[in-house]
Amino acid sequence: MNHGPGSTSPGTALERERTGLVAFVLAALRDLYGVPDWTPRRPPTDELVLTILSQHTSDLNAERAFDALVARFPDWDAVAGAPVEAVAAAIVGGGLAQQKAPRIQAALRQIHAERGDYRLDFLGAMDPREARDWLTRLDGVGPKTASVVLLFCFGLPLMPVDTHVHRVITRIGLIPPGTPADRAHDAALEVFPRDRMYEAHVNLITHGRRTCGARKPACWRCPVAPRCRYLDPAAP
Ligand code: SF4
Repeated sequence: MNHGPGSTSPGTALERERTGLVAFVLAALRDLYGVPDWTPRRPPTDELVLTILSQHTSDLNAERAFDALVARFPDWDAVAGAPVEAVAAAIVGGGLAQQKAPRIQAALRQIHAERGDYRLDFLGAMDPREARDWLTRLDGVGPKTASVVLLFCFGLPLMPVDTHVHRVITRIGLIPPGTPADRAHDAALEVFPRDRMYEAHVNLITHGRRTCGARKPACWRCPVAPRCRYLDPAAP
């Protein structure tokens, strides 16, 4: 095999092609939606509980349930030690309260058992994947929930792959077709530059909501269309 001057190995060519595609997609989405500002939203334990509450419901319902929870109990210690029925009653407005109440209590109790308190600030100083591994050891915390907490609270370069992100990056051809959502979390980390992970996440979700919908993607007005493999499997 010729690897002399002027030759190009297949792996390098593929890498260059993908790097070019990623740069094109990020630029197109930036033109359309801008650059989102990152500022930490709330303390990480609050974010974790809120993210558990947001599973299988709208952000609005989750926020309401979170507000009701913190109004009913003075602190996380009181939530962890309360009868599960009392926690479920407080979050009933968020849906699936019977599943989420024990999940929240189990996560809080595990954090306390390992750390001696309920704070998660130490995660911000860890390697991103190790921090994600730490959180996913908690009952009921998967890679999406863990990545949300770490990206939004600390700006750690992790990609929460929700239904929008998964659909859009699969259609464009940034991850192989058929990649399951749980594996897509690691696959996406190989795709996007670390310093643009937050921008990529926010703009992909916006794109999934406004343009690349599940049923009828608006390809005719999508700036990614010239290089999207949903439209042309051989797109460069
Ligand atoms: S071209 Fe169509 S399928 Fe591809 S990203 Fe845009 S809206 Fe989605």
